[in-house]
Amino acid sequence: MACYAMTGGATGIGAALREQLVADGHQLISVDIKAGDVIADLSTPEGREAAVAGVRERAPEAGLDGLIVCAGLPPVAPLAKIAAVNYFGAVAVAEGLKDLVAKRRGTVLLVSSNSAPMMPAETPFVQACLGGDEAEAIRALEEANHGQVGYAGSKRALTMWMRRNVVDWAKAGVRLNAVAPGITQTPLMQEVMSNAEYKEAMTQFADTVPWGGTAEPAQIASVMRFMLSEDAGFVCGAVFFVDGGSDAMLRPDSF
Ligand code: NAD
Repeated sequence: MACYAMTGGATGIGAALREQLVADGHQLISVDIKAGDVIADLSTPEGREAAVAGVRERAPEAGLDGLIVCAGLPPVAPLAKIAAVNYFGAVAVAEGLKDLVAKRRGTVLLVSSNSAPMMPAETPFVQACLGGDEAEAIRALEEANHGQVGYAGSKRALTMWMRRNVVDWAKAGVRLNAVAPGITQTPLMQEVMSNAEYKEAMTQFADTVPWGGTAEPAQIASVMRFMLSEDAGFVCGAVFFVDGGSDAMLRPDSF
C-alpha cells in the first residue's frame, strides 16, 4: 500500500484517479480548493504554503510514494488565475513536497495537456513562467490577452519545467513525468463548452481526433495510475499523450 498526495482531486480527472487509487488500497492526501483533506487555494502564496504544510502534517514519517499535481483552470478563467494555478501553484507544490517524495524514491506526476506543444516556447508568457517571475508572467499574459495563451502556455511551461528538472530530481530520488490529456469530459471542459467562442473551436478540434471522440476521466486516470505504479518504475521524464492521436496528427515528426 502506497501513500500519495494529490492536488485537484475533487472533480474530473483527479477524482477519477483518486477513486482508482483508493480502490487499489492506497492512502490518499487530497488538496483542493473545493473539497478534500486539505482545503487550499493554489492561486495564492498563502494557499500554496497551506497546501504543502497540510500534506506534511498528514504524510507518514517515511515519506510519500508519489505526488500528483492535477489542479488546473481552463482558458476561460481569469488570466492571472490561470498562470497562478496551472504553473506557479503546480511548481510550488512539487518543490515544496520534493523531499518527502525523495525519501521513498517516489514519483511526481504533473498534468499537462496536448495543447502544450501548440504554444511556442518563445512566447513571453512561457518564458516569464520559466523565469519564475509570477508578476512578469501575469503582465505578459495580460498583454497577450487570450485565455488560450494562458492555458496552453502554462502547460507548455510546466512541461518544460518538468523536462529541465528531470536529471536533478532523478539524482535526488524523484521520477518526474507528465501526462498530456486531450479533450476529456470533466467540469473544466463543461466550463469551456459554455463559452461560445471556445465551444466552436473545441467542437472543430474534437471532430479531427484520429481515434474519434473525447476521453472519459477514467481513461486518463488509468494511464496516470500506471505511471505512478512500480510497473512504470523506469519511466522518467516522459510526456505521455492520452489524446486519441491528436498530437501525432499535428506533430508527426516530433516526439
Ligand atoms: P476539473 O475542473 O474537474 O478539475 C480541476 C480541479 O482543480 C478541481 O478539483 C478544482 O477544484 C481544482 N482547482 C481549481 N482551482 C484550484 C485552486 N485555485 N486551488 C486548488 N485547487 C483548484 O477539471 P479536469 O479537466 O479534471 O482538470 C484536471 C487537470 O487536467 C487540469 O490540470 C487540466 O488543465 C488538465 N487537463 C484537462 C483536460 C480536459 O479536457 N478536461 C485536457 C487536458 C488537460
